[in-house]
Amino acid sequence: MTILQSPLPKADALQAIRQRCGAAALVAPADAAGRRISPGGDLLAAVPLLRPAGTDEVAFMVRQVQAAGGALVPLGGASGLAGGLKPVTGQEWYLSLERMRAIEEIDPVSRIVVVQAGVVLQTLQDAVAEQGLLFAVDLGARGSATVGGLVATNAGGERVLRFGMMREQVLGLEVVLADGTVLDLMDRVLKNNAGFDLKQLFIGSEGTLGIVTRAVLRLRSAFAGHDAAFLSLRSLADLPRVLTRLEAGLGGTLSAFELMWPEFLQTMTEGAGAQHRMPLGPGAAGYLLVEAEGGNPETDATRFMAVLEQLLEDGVIADAAVAQSEAERRAFWALRNDIARLILTWSPLVAFDVSVPIAQMSSYVDDTRAALCLRWPLARLLVFGHVADNNLHLVVTLGADTAAQSTAVGDVVYAGVRARRGSISAEHGIGLDKRDALAISRPQEVMALMRQLKRWLDPRALLNPGKVI
Ligand SMILES: Cc1cc2nc3c(=O)[nH]c(=O)nc-3n(C[C@H](O)[C@H](O)[C@H](O)COP(=O)(O)OP(=O)(O)OC[C@H]3O[C@@H](n4cnc5c(N)ncnc54)[C@H](O)[C@@H]3O)c2cc1C
Repeated sequence: MTILQSPLPKADALQAIRQRCGAAALVAPADAAGRRISPGGDLLAAVPLLRPAGTDEVAFMVRQVQAAGGALVPLGGASGLAGGLKPVTGQEWYLSLERMRAIEEIDPVSRIVVVQAGVVLQTLQDAVAEQGLLFAVDLGARGSATVGGLVATNAGGERVLRFGMMREQVLGLEVVLADGTVLDLMDRVLKNNAGFDLKQLFIGSEGTLGIVTRAVLRLRSAFAGHDAAFLSLRSLADLPRVLTRLEAGLGGTLSAFELMWPEFLQTMTEGAGAQHRMPLGPGAAGYLLVEAEGGNPETDATRFMAVLEQLLEDGVIADAAVAQSEAERRAFWALRNDIARLILTWSPLVAFDVSVPIAQMSSYVDDTRAALCLRWPLARLLVFGHVADNNLHLVVTLGADTAAQSTAVGDVVYAGVRARRGSISAEHGIGLDKRDALAISRPQEVMALMRQLKRWLDPRALLNPGKVI
């Protein structure tokens, strides 16, 4: 790597950036202060905010900040849930991709879209839908999450069981390295075994190895219809059986399988300000929101109903409520995705995003709840998750003690994850919030290689320092 040696005063770096890229490329610290850098409400301090209009400007800025001995945090839609944008030293500058929002090309034959990294997920979904195409990753933060952030966190979301995570959607990437080198990895083909697949290194690297500036993403045919239902379970031990039966019966069209523990539905449907209706009666061990998406609305709906009827008849599920309209389907999803209500009702809280094998989820949650309540009798635990892809989200509150005890709570939550060979981060990444727990999921030899890679690609810790490792 070529690194400039003589330190440049920071003011000179800013001046050079203004001269080369124009006034719109710089937001003064006073104006940047107060910008949101997390869904939880963390705000940017008074630091310089860079706003490049293209890849060449990103590369120029990176070189200038490198020469000034500074640090840069790549900033997308600030919807990340792992503290990946929080400052560590207080000296970081931020680089926002908000002026790089071009959808450069949609190719319906190759079924690819070429975008700049600042494109917002919802904008991308809407643009490809106009051409009868689908971008398969979908998640509750679709209105703010950007392609760069989705790639950097290897986001998952609601259709992972069918289409995989972000990693499976990326055919090509353009990345600016810490020395300003622009890596052209913009492949447009599904098959490419020409040497190491370097783009994979940057997917999920959370802004620590390079800045994602453009991407080639895979598209699918849009669905003609969606069938959604809420199901209630007698026992969580039935979970693997329900999933297997749905997958087999729906002929590959099952695309969502979301599990909610009873506390989750109570939070959404009871108490002051609750805006959602309970789709099924109380008393179940757990509730599932399942969705099948296919190409023939009539036959798909008939098959969906037949599979559910058989599950009811066989006693595998206790009850089912099928969405009778698009409005009802949206209401089901609104209930599942009302994270704002969850935060409001449960704060102060500490949240976890873990993976465990499906067959062990029920025992994992029971053991974790028992261990939490043994140590903190007032502990409350709420669980929900995408589940079919092994993912559970846990929310714990101890009341006023929550923040002070968050590390100890993490120890309890992660003990069961480690015992089951799961992961401490299923889809949100490590960022700053989970950094100290990384060794639970990664052996020391793997951690050492990660550190070596970081040192080799970014010897002066320019890019998002202090995150991940
Ligand atoms: C209501 C809600 C629901 C959510 N649901 C899900 C879900 O179901 N599944 C899921 O996986 N996530 C979910 N998330 C988390 C979040 O949406 C994802 O992490 C998203 O991918 C972050 O994108 P962003 O543009 O907001 O990134 P930011 O929050 O801005 O940044 C996240 C990280 O990526 C880095 N980064 C951003 N842009 C770039 C770039 N161009 N190059 C290099 N690094 C970059 C940042 O430095 C930071 O470390 C949810 C969040 C909310 C608020």
